[in-house]
Amino acid sequence: MTRVAILGATGSIGQLARDVVASHPGRFELVGMAAGTRVEPLAEAASQEAPWLRLRWLNVATAEARERLEALLPPAQKAGVEITVGEDGLVAMAQAPEVDLVVVAVVGFAGLAPTLAALRAGKRVALATKESLVVAGHLVREAWRGGKGELFPVDSEHSALWQLLEGARQRPSRLYLTASGGPFRTASREAMAQATVEETLRHPTWSMGPKITVDSATLMNKGFEVLEAAWLFDMELDRIHVVVHPQSIVHALVAWPDGSLTAQLAVPHMRLPVERAMLYPDGAVESVPALDPTTLGTLHFEPVDRARFPLLDAAYHAGKLGGTYPAVLNAADEIAVQAFLDGRIRLVDIERVVHQVLERHESHDAPDLETIREADRWARHEAEDLCQVLEGRSRVRS
Ligand code: NAD
Ligand code: MG
Repeated sequence: MTRVAILGATGSIGQLARDVVASHPGRFELVGMAAGTRVEPLAEAASQEAPWLRLRWLNVATAEARERLEALLPPAQKAGVEITVGEDGLVAMAQAPEVDLVVVAVVGFAGLAPTLAALRAGKRVALATKESLVVAGHLVREAWRGGKGELFPVDSEHSALWQLLEGARQRPSRLYLTASGGPFRTASREAMAQATVEETLRHPTWSMGPKITVDSATLMNKGFEVLEAAWLFDMELDRIHVVVHPQSIVHALVAWPDGSLTAQLAVPHMRLPVERAMLYPDGAVESVPALDPTTLGTLHFEPVDRARFPLLDAAYHAGKLGGTYPAVLNAADEIAVQAFLDGRIRLVDIERVVHQVLERHESHDAPDLETIREADRWARHEAEDLCQVLEGRSRVRS
């Protein structure tokens, strides 16, 4: 029996992870769930009658959210359950002796501390929160490689690479991550400047949470994924490439020294990577509908238009500089994406915020967790200031 904690249990990936638990009777027990501040879906998930639900911990982001959660839970459901608040509670759950597998599927920087804690405590970690590897890849690697913990990628491209590279007898020459190109793959810069939140959230092939959907529209997500792949597969950034593939059927390709490429194909559904990570070393069976190659039609590949999607290069740049630059890249993006979702700035302003905050930053080499936290706080503050300036300007314009 694998005892599971799901961090980000009410999100798009968290929901899939709960489905995986429910569909493998006798294999998993769900012992912990964490969510941000939307407590209704958490209360609902915690109140289910199911043999696999053996809750010991719930976690929410604020004390106010805990109050609301407590009010929603029936007394029988609260018995024996500890409700914690914030990062300390996430960390405690991630490293608790009664947990075997931690699914990290919160959004953003919040995933870092529990990822490190779980790995250091020797847990199996199914990692969806790519931001953990972006902001502190060296610390995550150290915690992972230096101990008994295991790390399984949930991101679809990285799950595909994992499958392609398993048992490889040679070191690959290059890795390719595919990108659908998002809703603005063929849009002009002018059209992107006018993009509404609604258009941006209409992703052509994947259904995901709002932050990653915006990041997919700017290709910031693909930039994060390049950094994620570098840490996961020990590969230099120059050997990791991005190729636009609008059908999202091929998820990744590996180039081998003999000149050949191998590719992984599957329907675009996150159930497969989530289930693969949670079931390892067993393979998943019938996670997603099997692909029939005779019905695939044309699969199209094209290079990224780097002028229209400058955040991809910003990620390579921050990754090569290293130090606290990647943490700053992530923090500036988190703030700018939220400002865009709140209708305060334009989609194309996200790149301005990210570039300017990176430019102002003075990095620290080989940062420890506290130094990364400081850089994160600094970058959020700078990004917020810039968003306020941009917001003021767009008011003047309109
Ligand atoms: P989502 O917005 O649907 O869900 C996020 C979850 O995290 C929610 O349960 C929310 O309550 C919780 N949360 C937010 N802030 C929190 C905090 N401070 N403490 C605890 N919980 C908090 O997001 P998602 O699409 O499921 O993405 C989750 C992560 O997985 C992201 O890092 C994303 O990049 C990654 N990912 C997602 C997909 C996808 O298809 N959705 C694919 C690859 C990677
Ligand atoms: Mg991905």
